[in-house]
Amino acid sequence: MAGMIHAVPGAGRSIAFTFDDGPHPVYTPELLDIFRQAGGKATFFMLGEPMTAHPDTVRAVLADGHEIGNHSYAHPNLTEIDPAEARRDVERASELIERVSGRKPALLRPPYLAANDATDELARSLGFPLIGATNLGTRDWEQPGVEHILALTRPFANEGAILLFHDGFGDRSQTIEAVRTLVRELSADGFELVTVSELLARGALSQSHQASEKPNFL
Ligand SMILES: [Zn+2]
Repeated sequence: MAGMIHAVPGAGRSIAFTFDDGPHPVYTPELLDIFRQAGGKATFFMLGEPMTAHPDTVRAVLADGHEIGNHSYAHPNLTEIDPAEARRDVERASELIERVSGRKPALLRPPYLAANDATDELARSLGFPLIGATNLGTRDWEQPGVEHILALTRPFANEGAILLFHDGFGDRSQTIEAVRTLVRELSADGFELVTVSELLARGALSQSHQASEKPNFL
């Protein structure tokens, strides 16, 4: 997982919420409401089957200015299948995202955040940064309770962080309530809620500023 990005240094007071395994016809629109009211953006790492079943939800996500990332088509562990098969699955997801939304994805979050050298190479060859997260212990998909999700996310909700939640599969109502609270708290705390690509761009910008501000002693 050498190349996986969990946070972006230099991105300033911005933070990226991400949602995996959707879209879901109920929970994804609830998230869209939360982010619309907060004036924030998020990133949705979607899968093939729910995208095929709910293309209108995919388009609603994009219409609100959010980002759609590649989370593979069928959610295999990319490190446990043949590299050629892994490539086919990821490319199939990209093609579907582009067909449904009209836009190519620019990010890859491997299922289970499982990555090895072959995954690194796959991502590099497709031009995708591998996207992780800082709040990896939250395990919101197990419905551990709203307070648990909050308690295991707050310490990691720092400048430049990427936060991971799930809007797909099963009952996601705890996640929705936790995200509603976190969005309110972080907005009140002066954080801007941005897409992962925006977060990466802000980090790169600060790096290029630092480089150009370096005094030239020679
Ligand atoms: Zn997933």
